[in-house]
Amino acid sequence: MSSIRRGTWTNWAGNQSAHPKWINEPASESDVADIVARAAKSNRTVKAVGAGHSFTSTALTNGHLLNMKHLNKIVEVDRANNQVTVEAGIHISELNEQLFELGLAMPNLGDIAYQTISGAIATSTHGTGVKISGIAGQVAAMRLVNGQGEIVDINAKQNPELLNVARVGVGALGIVTQVTLNVVPAFRLRAVEGAQKLDALIENLDELVETNEHFEFFWIPHTRWALTKRNNRTTDPVHIPSRAKQWYSKTFLENYAFGAVCALGRMKPNLIPRLATALPSTGQSEIVDESYRIFASERIVKFVEMEYAIPRQYCGEALQRIRSMIETKGHKVSFPVEVRFTAKDDIALSTASGRDSAYIAVHMYKGMAYESYFRDVANIMSDYEGRPHWGKMHFLNRNELSKLYPKWNEFLSARDQLDPSRTFANAYTEQVFGK
Ligand SMILES: Cc1cc2nc3c(=O)[nH]c(=O)nc-3n(C[C@H](O)[C@H](O)[C@H](O)COP(=O)(O)OP(=O)(O)OC[C@H]3O[C@@H](n4cnc5c(N)ncnc54)[C@H](O)[C@@H]3O)c2cc1C
Repeated sequence: MSSIRRGTWTNWAGNQSAHPKWINEPASESDVADIVARAAKSNRTVKAVGAGHSFTSTALTNGHLLNMKHLNKIVEVDRANNQVTVEAGIHISELNEQLFELGLAMPNLGDIAYQTISGAIATSTHGTGVKISGIAGQVAAMRLVNGQGEIVDINAKQNPELLNVARVGVGALGIVTQVTLNVVPAFRLRAVEGAQKLDALIENLDELVETNEHFEFFWIPHTRWALTKRNNRTTDPVHIPSRAKQWYSKTFLENYAFGAVCALGRMKPNLIPRLATALPSTGQSEIVDESYRIFASERIVKFVEMEYAIPRQYCGEALQRIRSMIETKGHKVSFPVEVRFTAKDDIALSTASGRDSAYIAVHMYKGMAYESYFRDVANIMSDYEGRPHWGKMHFLNRNELSKLYPKWNEFLSARDQLDPSRTFANAYTEQVFGK
């Protein structure tokens, strides 16, 4: 039975909050259907939240906010087809552990695993790897509750035309209750992490990206240095040298010391370029561990983020332009610029829809002004038909976004079909899709 309370909801970054009239915690799919059906009859709106790890206002509502935490189980394991069906509110971190116990794994992940599976697919969340798509590309089937409170199965036999639309639904098509994922046998990765000069890296980018299964790098603004991460499959045993373990990821994004550097930079922005040179530029580390422990790590330091997907071939040029823009405009940036890659897919609103993509993500430490930096980066991205991540800050509206996605109208038609009375609308869906 669904429980109800009132209260304030805030996202992870602390930059979005909602004051829903009702916070529901449905205990089952039929609870979800009931809440939506009753809300629709009374012209009230409904939004599901996952782990609140989006930076945009995508999960906000002043109607019913559905916390899906009780729908968190694995429902079925189909070993013959390497598929698992899970409830929508399961956190990817819980799923990873349970899959590992079953000898299975997700083939790719983002760099954290706090998200729920439904929140991750809704916004086209991705990791890195030129031969592999984002997480929504791993979805084989799903079930959702539509705007009238009806349960809709979407799979190869039932409503198959909706599958490539609903996988990245931006929370606008229905409340997802179950997802069937294509998984793989559990595997280990060797992570080799080290520093490289940005210019040399850009020169060899195609080779680095194509010869590593999962390649990414973080360029440190105000320096010539980038920290690279190459993850490749191995059958070697788990090997975690303790110093190496601390060297790279632990040295910055996850680390309190990095947080202290950012906090100092927030007080004295002019110090940021000098502080940046203290970040590591030498050394290399190598770790072998289970895939999910390598892909995802902790994030202790809070920030806001904007990320754009652009056609992969423009990655180096776009980065060089961002680098000169930061210096010309005098932005003081204490957070690295993160660069990742995925293969194209055929999902209507996937940020990699129809094109092999490079992702360029910019961050600003919590509490620092970010808008002018992000807008300057967004202007550069627009020259490459950049598509913003649905869950990360951006300034685009329906008109601008509609030109970036060839299958845009398929999505709008599915929205009219699944949610004609806009039970799942909020200010964000109005901004990006219209009324
Ligand atoms: C520290 C950090 C690291 C991140 N790393 C990455 C990364 O590596 N790669 C990447 O691509 N992104 C990354 N992100 C972004 C993040 O993956 C997405 O914003 C993702 O959507 C968050 O999932 P969530 O469960 O928190 O969903 P929420 O943010 O709570 O919700 C996102 C959207 O999904 C909808 N939704 C949630 N559940 C349902 C449901 N059951 N049915 C229908 N709609 C639903 C919500 O209404 C909302 O529209 C990161 C974010 C943070 C804060």
